[in-house]
Amino acid sequence: MLLPRETQGKYTAEGGCFFGPRLCTGGGGSDDWFGWHSHPSLTFNPKVQQVKLQIRCWQMVAPGEPLELSTRDVDLDDLNPETVVVEVAGCGVCHTDLGFLFGGVQTRHALPLVLGHEISGKVVHATGANAELLGCSVVVPAVIPCGQCKPCRAGRGAVCPKQFFPGNDDHGGFSSHVLVPGRGLCVVDEEALTAWGGALSALSVVADAVTTPYQAILNSDLKPGDVAVFIGVGGVGSFGVQLASAQGAHVVALDVDSGRLEQVAGSGADLCLSALGEHREIKRTLRLWAKEGGYSQTGWKIFETSGHPDGQALAFALLGYDAHLAVVGYTREKISVRLSNLMAFDATMRGTWGCLPEHYPAVLDEVLSGAVDLGPFVEVRPMSEINEVFRELHEHKLKRRPVLVPDFN
Ligand SMILES: [Zn+2]
Ligand SMILES: [Zn+2]
Repeated sequence: MLLPRETQGKYTAEGGCFFGPRLCTGGGGSDDWFGWHSHPSLTFNPKVQQVKLQIRCWQMVAPGEPLELSTRDVDLDDLNPETVVVEVAGCGVCHTDLGFLFGGVQTRHALPLVLGHEISGKVVHATGANAELLGCSVVVPAVIPCGQCKPCRAGRGAVCPKQFFPGNDDHGGFSSHVLVPGRGLCVVDEEALTAWGGALSALSVVADAVTTPYQAILNSDLKPGDVAVFIGVGGVGSFGVQLASAQGAHVVALDVDSGRLEQVAGSGADLCLSALGEHREIKRTLRLWAKEGGYSQTGWKIFETSGHPDGQALAFALLGYDAHLAVVGYTREKISVRLSNLMAFDATMRGTWGCLPEHYPAVLDEVLSGAVDLGPFVEVRPMSEINEVFRELHEHKLKRRPVLVPDFN
């Protein structure tokens, strides 16, 4: 434990409930799930009346090196009142995490740093204006804007210079607990969660993999009956396919992996095609399919969700009149395109950085109502396997979005 033995006393409810009552209205179950009485990470020092939290985590120490098991001590009394503590239920592994560890992408916070920005969990410490979050199940948005600066007030929180990105701006979710701003957390209704039947840990993918394509779809102004094309139907694109289908679009899925195409064929994709073919031939096939279905030949919404230069090249090649190309995936690689095609087609191209917290409840509804199915696309693994999972994802051995569940005890 973190305190010298002589000053250390187990934090118990008998010692005084330091955190106040739980006010979350949707809550079910007892206080036991807080671990008030048995939480191995909490210690109470009667001499200074401070509660310390020992956070256990897997931290990145250097590019390409294995993530290391570590601990970090936090004085809860010293926290900024805006900060809440979330006990991590699950944290998804994103290609952005691979970019930090293997791809030469620098984190904004200096190393060592705990990665992980796709977090769900329970709020176990919240004070002041955030007190009502205490005890709530939450999804932590991958990008939390400040809400007050000029871009935020203009509805452009994605470019907020004071945004908080866990696992990049500060320690993230490959951890027993994470400290995050209370603003923008998406509360999960406990009754809806129970009715859904899945685990809170699985909802971690809502933090990024489901919400980011949702924002891209919003930005594209997709309408029912439109043609939506997803290039790369892995961890992000598979949810994009389902979201676009739920909104009434005619959805095309393209991927280099036939297994992934099979997965989305039963989950919203009307047409599945190999992305390995010649670009012109793929475009011709799509045009024919649209013609036969009576769908528009113009105004296609194309979503690049592979984050691969070949996927980006294909996405650009599929542009036609009045098309919209959403760049959702990330790669450091460059591609060569004839940008004037945008002019000739009167087309648009736009990037998407995360999703505004205000849209999270709608996305969560899509999941909890069953419109978006997580089951076939999520793989839950113990967090102690984090280095294997990173390697397997890096080597393209995983067919599903991995979610790591803390198993530090
Ligand atoms: Zn991500
Ligand atoms: Zn802001």
